[in-house]
Amino acid sequence: MPQCPVCDAPVDLQTTPTVPFCCDRCRLIDLGRWLDESYGLPERPQPGPGEGGDEDEG
Ligand SMILES: [Zn+2]
Repeated sequence: MPQCPVCDAPVDLQTTPTVPFCCDRCRLIDLGRWLDESYGLPERPQPGPGEGGDEDEG
């Protein structure tokens, strides 16, 4: 039986709608990690403490 990549719990392919994750929660956790890496680009200078007013949202 395959295992959930997040919590290593056994995943039943036939009864689990959230495969390969054991549950929706783990699915979101993995998705969150993925997005975090995607957005957190390495080529991004970190603003010093007190700085960082760079919001231009319309
Ligand atoms: Zn899980």
